[in-house]
Amino acid sequence: MDRHPTRPKTATMHDTIPPKASEPFPQILLVEDSQTTVAVVSRYLCANYRLVHARDGEEAWGILLANQDIDLVLTDVEMPRMNGHQLLVKIRRSDSARLKSLPVIVMTTTDDNTDRNLAFLNGANDFVNKPIDEAELLARVNVHYKLARTIRELEVSRGTLEELAATDPLTRLKNRRAFFGEGEKNLSLARRHRTDLSVLLLDVDYFKRINDAHGHHIGDTALTAIARILTTMTRAEDTAARIGGEEFALLLPNTNRLGAAVLAERIRAAIEKEGFLVAGEPVPLTASMGVASYCGDAVDSIEQLLQVADRRLYLAKQAGRNRICVNDEGKSSFAS
Ligand code: GH3
Ligand code: MG
Ligand code: MG
Ligand code: MG
Repeated sequence: MDRHPTRPKTATMHDTIPPKASEPFPQILLVEDSQTTVAVVSRYLCANYRLVHARDGEEAWGILLANQDIDLVLTDVEMPRMNGHQLLVKIRRSDSARLKSLPVIVMTTTDDNTDRNLAFLNGANDFVNKPIDEAELLARVNVHYKLARTIRELEVSRGTLEELAATDPLTRLKNRRAFFGEGEKNLSLARRHRTDLSVLLLDVDYFKRINDAHGHHIGDTALTAIARILTTMTRAEDTAARIGGEEFALLLPNTNRLGAAVLAERIRAAIEKEGFLVAGEPVPLTASMGVASYCGDAVDSIEQLLQVADRRLYLAKQAGRNRICVNDEGKSSFAS
């Protein structure tokens, strides 16, 4: 098989989709037991595609599992061991999303519609008739390759957009909307599995003073430092979010009020210890926190859970700030 095709000297219809210089040639898996057809198809496609050859469906299946970079399958129908229809069914029924959506073009004979109809029923994207016509083959391969590439690019863009829509641009933590989304998901899991779920609401103390004394930019740096502390001190299954200007929230699955209180106190101490240096001078940085738990506080929604935590945050502020509050009596299990 020609694995390193050279570019044609003059422009021909082979040039319809020149790969970008930085990109490797798209890979086509050609599944065909006839050497004559392999030679013909290779000649027609080699200027724009890299061809990988399998002699039957079974060999093709092994290649598809091992090589994640196959962009399109062009398969014969009649072959020993596993024929084209069987291969197609295996591809479409696979667990892999990549294989399920891989473009498959079936090479059929003109005198009978049966293979063509069965191929479409089994999920083929298209067919080409044998004997192979160069223009038809190129047109169909190009269109299905481009379509699959465009769909992939759209999926990547959609993922990036979703990520952006859920992220706070300053701290890279989840934003308020994403926090509530995650919260509802976790609350229904807690209900179903009868587990606990805690919320920790954090508000920076006298943050206005930091802004006023050192400027908004330094204030932003303080918020980023707090975000870093929250990220490093929580587990992978926890959600840390910035839900307001200088307000943060943690969602703690499988954590009761006592566990949340222990974490809150650790975070409080870490923020106090981190302090903050502006032009070499230490600037005090502290935060107050309110904690609420699904089991301990008999609430029905994330909004309610956050309201309870907010009430306790207010008590912590009233009690002098730089402290946590875990119940409505203003108690902190770990008074600072
Ligand atoms: P308290 O201890 O009562 O919470 O006092 P505080 O000064 O933190 O409370 P207040 O709510 O009065 O002030 C919050 C300040 O946070 C005011 C606002 O300008 C500032 N702020 C809100 N969002 C941002 C931001 O993105 N960056 C910066 N630098 N400041 C912000
Ligand atoms: Mg055959
Ligand atoms: Mg505030
Ligand atoms: Mg504040």
